[in-house]
Amino acid sequence: MKILVLNCGSSSLKYQLIDMDNQDVMAVGLCERIGIDGRLKHTPKGKDSFVSEDAMKDHTDAVQMVINALLDKEHGVISDVSEINAVGHRVVHGGEYFSKSVVINDEVIKAIEACIDLAPLHNPANLIGIRACEKLMPGIPQVAVFDTAFHQTMPEKAYLYAIPYELYEKHKIRKYGFHGTSHKYVSQRAVKMLGKDASELKVITCHLGNGGSICAVDGGKSVDTSMGFTPLEGLVMGTRCGDMDPAVVSFLMEKENMTNKDVDNLMNKKSGVLGLSGVSSDFRDLESAANDGNKRAKIALDSFHYRVAKYIGEYYAALGGADAIVFTAGLGENSKTSRKAVCDYLKCFGIEIDDDKNSIRGKEIDIASESSKVRVLVIPTNEELMIARDTKELLDK
Ligand code: ADP
Repeated sequence: MKILVLNCGSSSLKYQLIDMDNQDVMAVGLCERIGIDGRLKHTPKGKDSFVSEDAMKDHTDAVQMVINALLDKEHGVISDVSEINAVGHRVVHGGEYFSKSVVINDEVIKAIEACIDLAPLHNPANLIGIRACEKLMPGIPQVAVFDTAFHQTMPEKAYLYAIPYELYEKHKIRKYGFHGTSHKYVSQRAVKMLGKDASELKVITCHLGNGGSICAVDGGKSVDTSMGFTPLEGLVMGTRCGDMDPAVVSFLMEKENMTNKDVDNLMNKKSGVLGLSGVSSDFRDLESAANDGNKRAKIALDSFHYRVAKYIGEYYAALGGADAIVFTAGLGENSKTSRKAVCDYLKCFGIEIDDDKNSIRGKEIDIASESSKVRVLVIPTNEELMIARDTKELLDK
């Protein structure tokens, strides 16, 4: 069964064609600058990349170009569109409507539309991608896999904010959490690595990329997570501030004469390690600046590690202990210095890493020392595979 996995952003579209019979990635690609001019980079397995700069006026054009690339005589990997058995879409916000992936129909589209207020930048782009596929691949089943769905198992005490309950009822203001597909994937891999049943394990998963979030997983279910109503809450991120006193918002509006949009932009785009350091939102740049003696870059990294460690401590208490901590995503998978800095805070829990193992990159590995009371796992995330798996599972039903 061949599944096309699509991740549509406002001006971009990432794709993978995965053969689920052997979990083989047949081709990967990216369309960028949709609606501006257009650029497609398509890489068939084991071959060189192919780049096209043909114009893409909208997402329908982009999906058409993806289909053309997949069918191309030279760079293609299939000979007919009908070889694609299904399309799996990453959809950012499923609100309280979706606690798992679903086959897309009119009702599902209406519910995704109803969540636009909660994710005004993402859900419209996801819907455009779904409509483009409906038009260009009629009759091929489509599945929606939501970033929020995995976290719908959180209990009320974790997801409710302490504002008047009526506002939750009226506007659905609550913690939703994001990166659910990644947290689910790595927590399932952790279960496999530890050779136990999911129901027996408590795992804290740390998705540390440009955006970052931490999740407490008990018996395979998310019971708490650091992102909230939007992806702004929680960790210090590349450009997002994460947790701070909400009173700062009205203070800034008054003192800096800012509008709500200005403050929103400041907290989402100009804050985080970028705002603290003034150097970059990219953790590699920060590590090298800090090594060169840049004090603010060091403070930014220190704040980031401290916040990650605090969340792990919080979830250790919430779960009543943990069997494993998992590091994943760009920074979690690649930065041994960040993993070390975070784990240094966790010695009180009996958590200890082996420096040699911590230096190995690019594969699933347990980097905890023999005597560590908690396993520390590095697991490369694979959201596309998770989306393809959910899609296949729904079709098999
Ligand atoms: P996103 O998908 O949220 O854009 P990624 O998961 O790709 O983010 O992570 C990107 C981040 O990971 C960047 O800040 C990048 O600097 C960091 N990163 C990637 N490789 C390394 C590395 N070897 N050392 C430190 N940071 C790294």
